[in-house]
This record gives sequence, C-alpha cells and structure tokens, in this order.
Amino acid sequence: MAIYNPDRGSAWNYGGGKWRLSRSKIDLFVSCPRCFYLDNKLGTKRPPGYPFNLNIAVDTLLKKEFDIHRKAQTPHPLMKENGIDAIPFQHADIDLWRDNFKGAQYKHEPTGLVVSGAVDDIWVKPNGELIIADYKATSKNDEVNLDADWQDGYKRQMEVYQWLFRRNGFKVSDTAYFVYVNGRTDVDTFDGKLEFDIKVLPYTGSDEWVEPKLFEIKECLESDAIPKPSSTCEYCPYREVAGKKLQRLFLECKVIKREDVPESDASKESPTKTLF
Ligand code: SF4
Repeated sequence: MAIYNPDRGSAWNYGGGKWRLSRSKIDLFVSCPRCFYLDNKLGTKRPPGYPFNLNIAVDTLLKKEFDIHRKAQTPHPLMKENGIDAIPFQHADIDLWRDNFKGAQYKHEPTGLVVSGAVDDIWVKPNGELIIADYKATSKNDEVNLDADWQDGYKRQMEVYQWLFRRNGFKVSDTAYFVYVNGRTDVDTFDGKLEFDIKVLPYTGSDEWVEPKLFEIKECLESDAIPKPSSTCEYCPYREVAGKKLQRLFLECKVIKREDVPESDASKESPTKTLF
C-alpha cells in the first residue's frame, strides 16, 4: 500500500486542472465543511481508509453478472424476483460512468463546479427511464436495511447520481435500488466458501438539496475563512492540542535526535520532519 502523503499536488486542489467535485467530496462537505476545506482548498487530505477487498470482490462479481444481462439485454434474475421491470442499461459510456477515476460528470455553470460520480450500475425501464443501482456488501446477523443514521451518506450518494444523470439529459426514476449482499455467519461450516443473502432495497430519493449545496460549497471554497469544525467530531480538539504541544517542543528545539531515529527512517527524513 502506498505511504500516506497528506499534501496533494496543487493540480488536484480547488482551482487546479485535475480537481473535480466528486460525490464523496460533497458528502465530506455535508459531514464536516472544515475537513472539506482542509482537503480541497488547502490540499491536506484525510488518510485513506483500508480498502475492503471483500467488498471490492463482491462489486466486481455483481458487475460481471449484470454485464452478462446487459449484453443479452435481458433482466437479471434479481430484477425479476423483485418485480423490477427493467434491464441493465447498455450505453457507450457505461464503463466510463463506472470508472472510479472518471465517472459521470456535469459542469454546473452557475458555480463552475464540475461534479462527478462513479455509479455501480444503471438500469433502464421499458419507457426509457433510468434507474440508479448501487451494490453494497456487509456481514451481519440481522436483515440488511437502510435505517441507520450512518446510511444517510448512501442515500445522498444515490441522490447525487440521480442529479448527475438528470443534468446529463436523461430521464431518471426517483426510485433507486441498493443491491445489498450479506455474508452469512449462521452456516455450520466454512469450507472455504462465503455464502451471501442478497436483498434488493428500493430507495426513493430527492435531489432537490444538491444544487443549493453546490452554492454553499462554492462559497466555502472561495472564502479565506476556515469553516467551523463539526461539533460531534473528537479529532479536531485532539489535533489542535497535539499540534500545539509538538509546535512548542519544536520551538524549544527539543527535536528528536538523529541517532534516535531508526536507520530506515533516518535515510529519508530530517529530524524536524520526524517530529512533525
Ligand atoms: S471536526 Fe473532525 S472531520 Fe471536521 S475538520 Fe476536524 S477532524 Fe476533520
């Protein structure tokens, strides 16, 4: 895994040629405008989470399965089982829309923000209306649902996609679907196989909040004032106190001595860098 580098190249920050307002950045703004500002305006991103390889495997396999039906233009059995009158959407850009580094894009002219988002799948109804579909994987004893507060981010994700595709000229259903797979732990033996229950959960979204949020984001990015931290996050007070203590030690020249730095680090880092 690549070593975390908190400072991104300026091309990837707001104003840089590669910067895009991805749906995950919109979600970061919703959960904490300060973290969003640090990331996008000041170029200091959060450390990445570890990739969930099992989720990635489930995503890949579901995509393969739905692609078979996309090619044949037939409904996937899950669609039939759940009474969804649709088939996987065939379009020249489907792989682009599903590419995490590209995704569907739209330039919102009033703010100049280029909004992007990579979907898991798009289905189409006989009347041409598109359905946004997203795959989720988990493992829990209870039935999967969308009732937890932390799943609001999933719902916002769907609504940003609905907004993006509508802005790209498509007719999009308000109803989106989560294809939710749940790894079973109630089986007697493992036998090197993980069994899953699959549920298709409908979600009726509204993208009305997206455009007003873009104006708020634009205002935040154009401002020189850093937004307030989230009142529920404990990391900011920790970071502030820890940062002040380290700063004081640094100013008192109590830097870590080079001989205290392990050989492998000493070759890469200056003592000052090691402290900070
Ligand atoms: S409150 Fe938490 S999420 Fe927000 S900037 Fe501070 S550390 Fe980041």
